[in-house]
Amino acid sequence: MRPMTHWKKIVQDSVTTPEELALRFKVDCSALEEVIATFPMRINSYYLDLIKTVGDPIWRQAVPSPKEIRDSVCMADPLAEEDLSPVPNLVHKYPDRVLFLVTNECAMYCRFCTRKRKVGTARMHISEDTIQAGIDYIRTNSQVREVLISGGDPLLLSDERLDSLLSRLHAVPTLEVIRIGTRIPCTLPMRITKELTAILKKYHPLYINTHFNHPSELTPEAAMACTRLADAGIPLGCQTVLLKGVNDDPKILSALFLGLLRLRVKPYYLFQADLTKGTNHFRTHTTTGIALMRKLIGNISGMAIPTYALDAPEGRGKIPLTPDYIVDQGVELRFRNYLGKLCTYPENGDPL
Ligand SMILES: *Cc1c(COP(=O)(O)O)cnc(C)c1O
Ligand code: SF4
Repeated sequence: MRPMTHWKKIVQDSVTTPEELALRFKVDCSALEEVIATFPMRINSYYLDLIKTVGDPIWRQAVPSPKEIRDSVCMADPLAEEDLSPVPNLVHKYPDRVLFLVTNECAMYCRFCTRKRKVGTARMHISEDTIQAGIDYIRTNSQVREVLISGGDPLLLSDERLDSLLSRLHAVPTLEVIRIGTRIPCTLPMRITKELTAILKKYHPLYINTHFNHPSELTPEAAMACTRLADAGIPLGCQTVLLKGVNDDPKILSALFLGLLRLRVKPYYLFQADLTKGTNHFRTHTTTGIALMRKLIGNISGMAIPTYALDAPEGRGKIPLTPDYIVDQGVELRFRNYLGKLCTYPENGDPL
């Protein structure tokens, strides 16, 4: 087999300047320069090779747009993560689980990123001290049953640092489940090495939620990464973001979700885009999302259907947005089925 280029080299070879991008595509360098002064660009060579034409769904996720710095609607931290952090880079919003940010780097910088305010910039300070403070917080707050390790992208840490982090978390007796949020299987699948999976499988129950947004991201390399993780007994989920011009189409979403299912990845959430400054051009109307869900439900495997959810502004939590099937609830329930046909179901007993 042809040896795969080492993942560190692929990240090192990332396109980070307009001039480098201009070697492959026709771009307006000065307009790009202005955007990346605020929001950095990193497109690693693997993800760059997935772009077929200027403006395609891969391009839109990776290449900065002048619209990012003309967004007068959205806000830097719409989920109020900074206000909900008892120690730096740890967000405690729900009673029994915390979000723990362990790196500010990613294998590429997605233009629609929720943490665009800080990911990939010097505005996100993560050190061994803040990581230890997070672990100490989890150890002393015994109601925390689950930790969601995120960033940035945690799988961009070295094997040694990841092993050390996971072993310290795994040693907390009150912590029941470790969940890793990572886009690496999509954006840098060669990072999922045999050595990495051997480390991860020591810390079960360990779940991974990855992040694919378009069927053209489901490459043979991505399939290999997901196979390795699934074979290590790691349940895989996917958190897709609904993005205008990328995947706001029923055929694209069903191809994505069915493709993920074939790779043993369960679609978990389809997120309504957050109100993050610099990403307004990606937002769709929520009626679009609900209409898309209605087209999927019943027509494809229920296992391929994620929950469409809005992460409510100001840290109010994730709210499922579901098509309404109920027409009327009395002595009988009247509803429309997935084909739009009016149906009834006789009720029994009194309402709660
Ligand atoms: C999304 C999120 C979680 C996890 O929520 P689930 O619904 O369990 O996936 C936990 N903490 C924070 C702060 C979050 O934003
Ligand atoms: S991989 Fe995740 S954290 Fe990193 S830029 Fe993309 S969306 Fe943001």
